[in-house]
Amino acid sequence: MRYGIIADIHGNLEALEAVIGACQQDGVRRYFCAGDIVGYGADPSACIEKVLELNAECIAGNHDWGVTGKVSVDRFNPAAQAAVAWTQNQLSTDEMKYLNNLELTYSNKDLVMVHGTLNKPETFQYLTDMTLASDTFYLMQQPVCFLGHTHVPQIYVKEDDKVNFADVQYAEIKENQNYIVNVGSVGQPRDGNALASYAIYDPDLERVEIKRTSYDIEKAQKKILNAGLPEVLARRLSIGQ
Ligand code: ZN
Repeated sequence: MRYGIIADIHGNLEALEAVIGACQQDGVRRYFCAGDIVGYGADPSACIEKVLELNAECIAGNHDWGVTGKVSVDRFNPAAQAAVAWTQNQLSTDEMKYLNNLELTYSNKDLVMVHGTLNKPETFQYLTDMTLASDTFYLMQQPVCFLGHTHVPQIYVKEDDKVNFADVQYAEIKENQNYIVNVGSVGQPRDGNALASYAIYDPDLERVEIKRTSYDIEKAQKKILNAGLPEVLARRLSIGQ
C-alpha cells in the first residue's frame, strides 16, 4: 500500500488540495500528517476538515498546540504570533479540541512520525544536524521516521551506526539501513523552492520519495492579504522562503 506523508500545511488549502490530487494520481491509499495543519495561512478550518476527510493519522505540531494554548508562543516571531491569534478566532470548538488532542508521536510497524525530533518531542526541536539525527535514530524501532518542522525536505540515512545525508529526493530502504525523512512543507516551503513538498512511501517496495507539486500560489496569497494576516506570510510563498 502506498502512503502519502504530508506536514506543515499551515492553513494553505490551495497547496493541500494540489498535494492530495497528486497523491491520488500516484495511487496513495493512506495519509499521514506530521503536524502543523494550521498557522500562517488563511484556511485553517478547511485544512483541518480535509485532513479529517482523508482519515489521516496526524500528530501535533508546535503551531497546532500554539493555537490551542498548549504550548507557549512567546518565542514565535511576530508574524507567527499574529497568525496564531487570527487562527484562534477562526476555529470551532470541535476543531480546537481536535488540535488539542493530537498526540506527539504516531507509530505502526512501517513508520514512526513526529513533528520535530523523537528525543523530547514536546520541545519541538528542529532536526538540522547529525547529532539530533543520531538521537532520533537511536529511538527508532521502525525503518523510517517521518517528520517536518524545518520546512526543508531532507533525508538522513543510518547504516552500521554511521549517520549521513542521503539523496534529498529518493531512497531505497535496505535491511541494514534506517531513514529519517523530513518531508518538507505543503503550505510554506523554505528551501528556496516554492512548490508544495510531500513524500510518498511504499513499505512493500521499501521505497520513499520526496515530491513537489505546483499550486495556485497567487490565490493563497490573496486570501492571506484579504484576511488581514501579515503581508510577509503571503510574500514568502512565491519565493519558497
Ligand atoms: Zn511548521
